[in-house]
Amino acid sequence: MERMPEFELKRPTNLAEVVAWLGANPCARLLAGGTDLVPNLRRGIEHAPLLVDLSAVRGMSDIARTETGLALGACVTLARLGTDASIVHQYPALAEAARAIAGPGHRNVATLGGNLCLDTRCVFYNQSEWWRAANRYCLKRGGDICHVAPQGQRCHAAFSGDLAPALLVLGAEVEVVSTRGTRRAPLAELYADDGAAHLTLAQDEVLACVRVPAAKPGLRSGYRRARTRAAMDFPLAGVACALTLQGDVLAELRVALTGTNPNPFLLAGCDEFTGRCVDAELLAQLGKRVQKQVSPMRSTVTPSNYRRLVAAGLAQRLVLELAGPL
Ligand SMILES: Cc1cc2nc3c(=O)[nH]c(=O)nc-3n(C[C@H](O)[C@H](O)[C@H](O)COP(=O)(O)OP(=O)(O)OC[C@H]3O[C@@H](n4cnc5c(N)ncnc54)[C@H](O)[C@@H]3O)c2cc1C
Ligand code: SF4
Repeated sequence: MERMPEFELKRPTNLAEVVAWLGANPCARLLAGGTDLVPNLRRGIEHAPLLVDLSAVRGMSDIARTETGLALGACVTLARLGTDASIVHQYPALAEAARAIAGPGHRNVATLGGNLCLDTRCVFYNQSEWWRAANRYCLKRGGDICHVAPQGQRCHAAFSGDLAPALLVLGAEVEVVSTRGTRRAPLAELYADDGAAHLTLAQDEVLACVRVPAAKPGLRSGYRRARTRAAMDFPLAGVACALTLQGDVLAELRVALTGTNPNPFLLAGCDEFTGRCVDAELLAQLGKRVQKQVSPMRSTVTPSNYRRLVAAGLAQRLVLELAGPL
């Protein structure tokens, strides 16, 4: 890794200043915990002569509890998400996902917003400048070929953030602020299925807050993932589930995935499982559905088909576990 390149740092204390700096400087980048952005700057993957640090912005590190649910400031740290008693109790999927990320030192500074806005990853991209130069770069930055799928003109780098699937199954919405005002949208709309441009945020927009609806009575949720190393490693595949039961049958089931596609996504077609028992037939159908909708490519050192099978297996096990006796 190279030395940190020269940069100017702004440390605004309110969101109006943040968006003013972004609007006036098309090359400015937001800095939250810096655990993803700083390594990327040092690798030459990102270039940002101006960094706008969010850590002093008033209100962005707050957790507010209302009748309608939780409002999580984008600068709430992963350590807090993983240990806050009401999150652990009411939204276990979110707490489990937060606790699974990186190491304790990272989680003390890394934020919710930084995790949701994480860059996509690829074994041909997360490399030093000289490595990428020696391989003639790639479509995502600086080159004209994708080493993963050389026949195509599309980047297949995978989104590997752990929080997004948990928040997707919990029905979260995001609040995005710019000089044009505030807009609110379902979390799924933050993402696009394109490894080179997977965020729908405009250059001058900042993710300010994530709203999680109040947990319905009886809601059970969880997050599981597979990784190459047992600690401090990104997910090869990660699965979140949320379900409610009516007696022995599923009243509602939501499943979301990360680590396999350029965007985290809610599994389509889960309505088909409501009103049914969680039995071998349902789990087999769920596994097939996952295998069909994930699209892992050769963007990690682990074979794509292994990630496909692991994603299906994680989903099956998690649904079985959540539907079992408490
Ligand atoms: C060794 C190591 C292991 C890791 N393992 C994992 C892992 O297992 N799972 C995982 O998910 N991540 C992992 N990470 C990546 C990273 O640590 C986390 O994703 C972290 O949550 C990123 O948050 P941050 O606040 O540090 O983001 P930053 O690095 O500050 O920012 C990341 C990106 O988000 C943008 N951004 C930040 N905040 C906002 C906002 N409010 N609005 C709009 N854009 C914003 C930044 O401009 C930047 O592009 C790992 C990193 C390392 C170094
Ligand atoms: S998937 Fe292709 S274009 Fe995208 S980062 Fe990897 S090699 Fe580059």
